[in-house]
This record gives sequence, structure tokens and C-alpha cells, in this order.
Amino acid sequence: PSVAPRAAFIASRLMSSAAASSPQPEGEPRFLEMVKLNFDRAAALTKYSDDLLDVVKQCNSVIRFSFPIRRDDGTIESIHGYRAQHSHHRVPCKGGIRYADEVNLQEVEALAGLMTYKCAVAAIPFGGAKGGVRIDPKKYSVAELERITRRFTMELAKKGFIGPGIDVPAPDMGTGQREMGWIKDTYQMLFGNNDINSLGVVTGKPLSQGGICGRAEATGLGVFYGVVEFLNNPQMLEKVGLTRPGLKDLTFAVQGLGNVGFSAAKFFTQAGAKCVSVVEYNSAVYNENGLDVEALKQYMSQKGTLEGFPGATKSFASNPKEGLEVECDFLVPAALECQLNMHNAANIKCRFIAEAANGPTTPAADEIFAKKGIVVIPDIMLNAGGVTVSYFEWLKNLSHVRFGRLTRKWEERSKRDLVDLITNTAGINPIESSKVFDGPSELDIVYSGLEETMVTSINDIINVSNELGCSLRDAAYVLAIRRIMVVHQEAGITI
Ligand code: GLU
Repeated sequence: PSVAPRAAFIASRLMSSAAASSPQPEGEPRFLEMVKLNFDRAAALTKYSDDLLDVVKQCNSVIRFSFPIRRDDGTIESIHGYRAQHSHHRVPCKGGIRYADEVNLQEVEALAGLMTYKCAVAAIPFGGAKGGVRIDPKKYSVAELERITRRFTMELAKKGFIGPGIDVPAPDMGTGQREMGWIKDTYQMLFGNNDINSLGVVTGKPLSQGGICGRAEATGLGVFYGVVEFLNNPQMLEKVGLTRPGLKDLTFAVQGLGNVGFSAAKFFTQAGAKCVSVVEYNSAVYNENGLDVEALKQYMSQKGTLEGFPGATKSFASNPKEGLEVECDFLVPAALECQLNMHNAANIKCRFIAEAANGPTTPAADEIFAKKGIVVIPDIMLNAGGVTVSYFEWLKNLSHVRFGRLTRKWEERSKRDLVDLITNTAGINPIESSKVFDGPSELDIVYSGLEETMVTSINDIINVSNELGCSLRDAAYVLAIRRIMVVHQEAGITI
């Protein structure tokens, strides 16, 4: 190649690496170390020996690889992919695939660990995993994304890192149903003929590809169910200085209007809470009388910014993260890790934090929140709704039936009750929201299983925190360690 295109190529690479915003806060340990610190703090509250605890803590396998793809303009680009399988104490391993320009091996390893603990807290029989591709998906065409996803799947397959009984990916930041459909199709192209369970290779698929009703909103709805149950607990209510349960008239701020943040905000507002502040990576807006999150989401997807949204009374143009520091009853971080850290924790002014994201709070911020009396409902408990419904989808795929084959008589009776129940608690009409293949009865089953899981696990961690006198995060880790330890011990550790 001549010198000019080569220089342009190098310049474009330099620009894209400068644009990549690292979530790593200055002066704090790396994300992976933070997860290990959380683990160690909780481990010290248990009676297990250090060597056994180390077995639980270590990451079992990782891969990193590069592969070329041809861009639409004919140039060739090297793409970097990663997958970490944190724990094989139960198989398959389970966890999402993230497309973002700051993805790296230590990040996926940290996130894989969180998946292991999350599944244990939710009592879902999976080990934890996580994968990622180091691209900003906004900079690629649909055709390019399809080529990347298919090639990524082939690389995983070649290395034995994917399969319905081995390792089952799902959506995460930057990916969704569309990518899961491509993964499923690529896997079936390779192995569909002799793997009768091939549909169960990935979850979060479109309904036409073996997906399940309710998966898209599952994480957000799980966050909602968890917070409702948290506020039903008189002891927790007192801790956060509230006098009555329920979300009516509570104010909240949300970071990230992606799949998780948007659906959580929607469920909260439908139950009577007021969304006063929304923070995106490039902009943030505020209105003390409440923002219309649906209109805001639409505005963001049209304009690429929240700036200028007509329903806002204030914006945080110079530093969007200031939008997290507004006065409100609760804060919902639903974006990247390490967003609440030693640099902004002292400025946070809410009663409690509902961690919808993975790892949004650093240990330094946790300490500050504890001193300020801000209660943190931890990620590994509160955002487990996604993997919970993924589990239902996987079960559905493996059992080769659709859920919700009910007689009309049963269905009509239960539908009435369930519609009332869901409409009253979630404020949405499930029949309306399920114009889907497998019908409302599948959605009823999914929502009910999800609610049961979230209600049980928040109560489980509250009980452990009372037993040990520790934070909800420490309690969640202790619960996870206890459950994983039983599996290791009863299986026998070595050959
Ligand atoms: N990516 C989601 C998470 O972080 C879902 C994982 C899954 O469904 O396997 O929990």
C-alpha cells in the first residue's frame, strides 16, 4: 500500500483508541481486582479454608483470539474477541456477550465471576461465563456485525467454548436478539444435524428462533420485582428512612437507557415512581416533575443525545455524570462498571442504590455509601432477572415444548387473576405486551417464575445480612460461596 492510505489507517486507529472511554477510575484497583476484593471480604465471614475458597475464586478458562473481517468498503480489519468461563462447578457456563470498544480480557473475566455468583444467589444451576468483542457496534453496518458475530461464533466453536451443555451465551451491552439469532444459526449450520439440543446453544433469541416471551424485559423487570420486595421489608424500609412500602411518588435517577435501564425505568414509572434524572454516556437531563422515559428513549435513538429534550428543565452538558448526583430516593446504575467510585460517591444523594448494571460500584464507593447510610442492593442479586429467564428459555429449548399449553378453562381463570396481579404490581398489561408466538400463558409462567426468583433471593440475602451483621453485598457473596462450596464438596475436588 502507498504511504498515504497507510498513514490514514494509522490515524484512524489512533482516533478510535482515543475515543474509547475506559470505565477504570483513576487511583482505584482494576475491575477484576475489585470483584476479587468483594469476594475476599465476604470469604472472611465464612469458615471455609483458604485453599477451598481459592478454588471458588479462580477463573477456570479464558480464550482470546483475533480474526479478520472484510468491511463493506473492502478493507480488512482485525477483530479481537474474548470469552472467560469462570466456573465449571455446574455446566453449562452461562453469560452474555458484550460488544464495546473498551472490552478486554480482565473485564470479561471479572464479569464471568459475577455471573457465577449471580447464578448461585438466584439458585440457577449454571457456572458463570462472559464474552466480548472489542468493537463499538455503532461504527459497523448490520452486514458487518453479522459477519463479526458469525465468525466469533465459529471461533468459539472451534475452541470448544460454546454448546448447549458447555457454554451458553446471551445478550449483554451492545448485543441483542438479532446477534443471538445469528449465533444460533451459525451453530446450527455447523452442528445442527447431530445436536438435537442445538436451539439451547444461546439464549435471548428472537421468538421465531426458539426464544421465550419476556426475555427482553427480564433484567429490568427483575430489578423492579427486587426493589418492590426490598421495600416490602419493614426493616429495610426503616434503614432507608421510608415509612410505607411501594414505589408511589418515589423519585429515581437512572444511568443508561439501554435494554436494562429503559425497562427498569418503565416498570418503576408505571408503578408510580418519578424518573427525575436520566444519564447517558454523552448527555444527561433532569426534571423534578418527572421525565417521560419512553419519549426520551425515542429522542435518544433519533438524535444520538438527550441534550435538547423538550421535557427536561435542566441538562448536564459539560459533565453528564453529574446527573447521578441529583437528590432522589433511589439511583439505578444500568450502564458500565465502576461508575460510582471514589471520585463521585460522596456527592450521591439518594436513600438506596439499585444495581441494575454489573459492578457499577467500586469498593471505595461502597465504603463511602456505608458511612453515609446509603443502602446498596447488589448487582449479583438484583440484576439476575436476565439469566433467570435465560434459564427458562434454555429449559424450553431442551424440553422441546412450548410453555403455557393450558386448557382454555384454566387459562381464562388464571389469566384473569394473573393479569390483575401483574397489572397491579408491574403496572403493565401482560396480554397487551405479548403479541407473540407462544401466547400470554407462556408470559404468565415466565413473569411468575421471575418474580418468585427475585423475591426469594432478596429475602435470602437480607437473612444472611441479619445473620452476619454485614452489608447486602457481603451477604450475597457469602450466600453464593456457601452454595458453590456445597457443589464442590459433594462432587469431590480432585481426581
Ligand atoms: N448479560 C446478562 C447478565 O449480565 C444475562 C446473561 C444470561 O442471560 O446468560 O446477567
